[in-house]
Amino acid sequence: MITLQEALKLSPQEQTKLVNDILDKAKASDLNAYVGFETSGSGVPILIKDNIQVDGWSVTSGSKILQGYIAPYNATVIEKLSQNGMMCLGRSNMDEFAMGSTTESSFYGITKNPHDTSRVPGGSSGGAAAAVAGGIAIAALGSDTGGSIRQPAAYCGCVGFKPTYGRVSRYGLAAYASSLDQIGPITQNVTDASILYDAISGHDEKDSTSADISSAPTFPNLNPDRKLTIAVIDNYISEASSDIQQAYANTVKTLESLGHTIVHKNMQNTKYNIATYYIVATAEAATNLARFDGIRYGRRAESTNVGDLFINTRTEGFGEEVKRRILLGNFVLSSGYYDAYYLKAQKVRHLIRDEFNEIFKDADLILSPVAPSVAPKIGAVHDPLEMYKSDMYTIAINLAGLPALSLPVGRDESGMPIGLQFIANAFDEQTLLDGALGLEKAIGYN
Ligand code: GLN
Repeated sequence: MITLQEALKLSPQEQTKLVNDILDKAKASDLNAYVGFETSGSGVPILIKDNIQVDGWSVTSGSKILQGYIAPYNATVIEKLSQNGMMCLGRSNMDEFAMGSTTESSFYGITKNPHDTSRVPGGSSGGAAAAVAGGIAIAALGSDTGGSIRQPAAYCGCVGFKPTYGRVSRYGLAAYASSLDQIGPITQNVTDASILYDAISGHDEKDSTSADISSAPTFPNLNPDRKLTIAVIDNYISEASSDIQQAYANTVKTLESLGHTIVHKNMQNTKYNIATYYIVATAEAATNLARFDGIRYGRRAESTNVGDLFINTRTEGFGEEVKRRILLGNFVLSSGYYDAYYLKAQKVRHLIRDEFNEIFKDADLILSPVAPSVAPKIGAVHDPLEMYKSDMYTIAINLAGLPALSLPVGRDESGMPIGLQFIANAFDEQTLLDGALGLEKAIGYN
């Protein structure tokens, strides 16, 4: 597949032909990566996750409850794509309301991993990563609340970039956990991630959490030869599989050979990552999803009075995982439990953030696994807690609001891609992309 960088240089006629070619290929694919084939505008086609509003398109967040709902406006990122020579092509599949790590919970069915169709593509932006890695999309926009851009990119062997919280407007993104959600690129390589990030980032007064911090565009300033100080967290990697630990050790050697300085660190609060995230995220999700009541959006269930209307719509419309999180979120927010769970989690969130700040006093970047294993088989993860545990390496970055980028560094014995991530200090996307581009060139992953 042509890269975004190359596609932006094509003539309008060539771009139109490209759109038609991609549509043909995407419709013929059996990955179930697309859940819609709409197009809008002109330019280089970008695949859009099913939780980002595109004016006049269906937007369902992979949920039955939003069947029939049509977006009445464009998300800010969509406006920005068209201002930068890009258009929207197609809807990518996702876990329902972006809750999940496998893209198995969508109303539209399971998406398959292009490297082995008996395996999941990761989630929740699994459709986006499967399409980019499977050669049926040039690049895609996903959303990352606790890893949903980086982890599917790692499982599928492409690049996933979650910017600093506040860098990219969330206006028009269906909210899962508002203090953690961030839109970002899923691309074939680091350069394309930089180009797409430059296009979609920037202050937006329509999003009250958008950061009013201007920065130069990253793409014209990309420098893969910068020498950086990179922290490795020694007590953090032992829970990853031996293949991932091996890939990690090889990558550290590669970084040393590139002239980077490696510093060894430990983190004390990593054992609280999963509990903290699943309290904060479910509390916010329970609140955000209260608006889906059968009256204002999407599908309405049969009922004879308004109480039953709410209950029946939500009972029929939400899937099992979403209901589990609404229950958990309302529990941690309920009187009597609020202090013990929600407030405590907010305090631990600060400790997690402080620990990252300490490390960034001595380092430009942190190298970390993205997931403890390669992509599992479809149907293999039954226990919700087991699925939550697989988020151990990605969620702390969202709790701290930091930027991170996952890129493929190798494959395991069965040929499945292994991704690692760089994490940077808040608003230091340039260093993140410089370091990632240098590593990508050195590794030469194909
Ligand atoms: N797997 C995590 C969750 O289910 C992260 C999902 C995401 O980033 N949207 O919450």
